[in-house]
Formats: sequence, structure tokens, C-alpha cells
Amino acid sequence: MFDNKTNKQFLPFGKPVLEEEEIQAVSDVLRSGWITTGPKTAEFQKLFSEYVGMKRALGLSSCTAGLFLGLKIFGIKEGDEVILPTMTFTATANVIVHCGAVPVFVDVDLETGNMIPEAFEKAITPRTKAVMPVHLYGRPAEIEKIYNIAKKNNLYVIADCAHATESRINDLHVASFSDAAAFSFYATKNLAVGEGGMLVSDNEEIMEKAGVLFLHGMSKGAFSRYSASGFKMYDIVDAGYKFNMTDISASLGIEQLKRLEKRLKKREEIWRRYDEAFFSLPVKTPPLVPDGIKHARHLYTLRVQKNRDKILSAIQDEGVGVSIHFTALHLHSFYQQIYGYKRGMFPNAENISDTTFSIPMTPYLTDEEVERVIATVRKAVELHYNRDK
Ligand SMILES: *Cc1c(COP(=O)(O)O)cnc(C)c1O
Repeated sequence: MFDNKTNKQFLPFGKPVLEEEEIQAVSDVLRSGWITTGPKTAEFQKLFSEYVGMKRALGLSSCTAGLFLGLKIFGIKEGDEVILPTMTFTATANVIVHCGAVPVFVDVDLETGNMIPEAFEKAITPRTKAVMPVHLYGRPAEIEKIYNIAKKNNLYVIADCAHATESRINDLHVASFSDAAAFSFYATKNLAVGEGGMLVSDNEEIMEKAGVLFLHGMSKGAFSRYSASGFKMYDIVDAGYKFNMTDISASLGIEQLKRLEKRLKKREEIWRRYDEAFFSLPVKTPPLVPDGIKHARHLYTLRVQKNRDKILSAIQDEGVGVSIHFTALHLHSFYQQIYGYKRGMFPNAENISDTTFSIPMTPYLTDEEVERVIATVRKAVELHYNRDK
């Protein structure tokens, strides 16, 4: 993308580049004549469940669909409360609202941005039914603590693993510490198919329920309806949804999964270069990761105590894409107007919201592009940090 204003190639925040085999896999599906849910989806589900080490995986149209389905299969309904960190993408909270339940926000750790387990415990009431931990930026949350608190209080754990496809604690995937977990394969995520998601769980009974609800509530899915085994009568056993994954997405997902760990190595390399480059600037780099913790390196975030928005504009004006992850949900008008949340309630999340910005972090960045990002950020920070408003 050429930008006439800067006379430079625009460097997008999230740049999907696909290798020839990935494009070939999608072409093969298009030529096969079977483009919706079918054998490729079944294969991707199997490979993904093996990768995360969970018994069952259900391919879906998005992570948002997975989070919603995760709440539905555990019976979350009107009048229930669900606890979640306020520092997350709006999808995590929106699905609680769609169930008729109340999203109960709690504050996050100032360093990692992940939910504070003690804050979660304090927010539990007799109406609390579930907790939705988020592994922010790909760094595992204190999920063992959260899981234990949840089980002590008879709560379901439905994890938002949108950033956490590769995240592990002592080789165990973070999704292991949940009753169900949802993943995102959106265009900018570590495993990207455009639009797509996956719900995983070790609870086979509950996944049977998910396997009915995700496709209209039909007792038999489209795959068996139209497959070689012939026409099958189906019964509608519930008013279900339309959340299925297509074989077009799944074929790309299979190829992306093969390359995931190799690409994570590249992310780690870029991460280290950023850490070194920004060490001397008046910005806060992401906290170091303790031994035994595998970080998915999904988002590289910096924090600057002053003039964040001016710095952001200056970087963008130089043709480098930047973003904010996130403005805490309790600062957004819907959650303030409907649930009475206000600024001042969650100081750590507010501090992060006001100071954070994310810079490009994809394995497709060339060495020159990494250098360009570093030089652009350095220039913008040096120019604006000490300027008064
Ligand atoms: C991207 C994202 C989602 C939503 O994923 P979709 O696949 O787009 O539905 C949910 N939670 C978080 C934290 C995300 O970053």
C-alpha cells in the first residue's frame, strides 16, 4: 500500500502474508466442490485438539461465537453474573450481555494487564455462575489460581484464548485450566484464516451440546446430511445458531497450524529486538516472562506516561500502523450507561488504557521493516515525550 502523504509504503499494523502452500490448500478446497463444513473442518478440529491437548474441538465462524456458545452450554442465563477482566476486547463482555447475564468487571495487574485472582475472588456473589479469564497479549494469566478459586466456588471457567493459541504453562496449554476455551483465527491473530474460531473442552458431554447448538440445533449436521452416507432425517432439538466453520477456512487453518511454532520463533526474535531498541527510551516495554511460561507474543505493547495520543499520531503519520489494546471496557459508553461503570473503579486498567500502544508484531516483518518501526517509534517518542500539552 503506497501512501501519497508520506511518500512511503504504508506498513500496516497486522499484515497477513500467505505462503504458496497455504494459497494452494484453499484452491484445492475450491476445486473440490465442497466449500462449507466438511472433511477439512473435521481434520482441522482433530489437529487443533491434539495441538492444545484437549479432547474435543469444534470449528466455528469466530472466537466470539465460541465464547457465546461456551456460556450457553453451561446454562448461563438472565440474572446470572459472569466475572471478567475489564482489560479485554469487547467481544468477551458482549457475549455475556447476549446471554442476558451481567458482566462483572474486575481490575488487572498493572504489569501484565491480566486479571488479578484476588479481585476475581472478591467479586463473587451468590449470583456468580462463571468467570472468563483472558490471556492478554498471549501472556498466560494466573490461570491456576483463577481455576482453583472458580472450582472452590462452583463456577465455570470459560477462557478467552484469542491471544493465546501457543500459550503454555510448564508445557500444558493454558486452555487446560478451563471448562471450555475459545480461540480466534481472525485476520490479525497468530493463526489467521480471515474469520474463524474454535471451541475446545475436555468435557465430551458438554461438547455434544455445543455440536447441536452451533448449527441450528439440528440433531445431525450438514456434513452427514449431504455426505456419501446419504440423506438423513434430522430433528430440531433446540433453537440453535449458525456458527459453523467453512472448509475454505479450515484448509487454511491446517496450513497455518503447521507453521505456527516456526512463526512464533520469528515473533520472539522481533520481540527481543524491540525490547533492546526501546530500553533506553522513556517508554515501558512488556514485562519479562518467568521460566516455564510460554508467551504467544501476539501483541507487543509499549506504555508512555505522557502525550500517548500525540506519539501515536506521529507514528501513524510516518506510515506505520499502530493500535491500542485496549481501552478498558468500563470506560466505554455502553457499559457505563447500562451497568453504571465509571472511571475510577479500576485504576490499574485505567492506567494501562491511557498509556498503552501496540506496534506491528507479525512474523512477516522484514529486517528493514523492523528497523523502520524502531526508528519511527524512537523519533515520535523523542519528539513528543517532553513537550508540554
Ligand atoms: C480478537 C478477539 C476476540 C474476538 O475474536 P473473533 O474471532 O474476531 O470473534 C475476542 N477476545 C479477544 C481478547 C480478542 O482479541
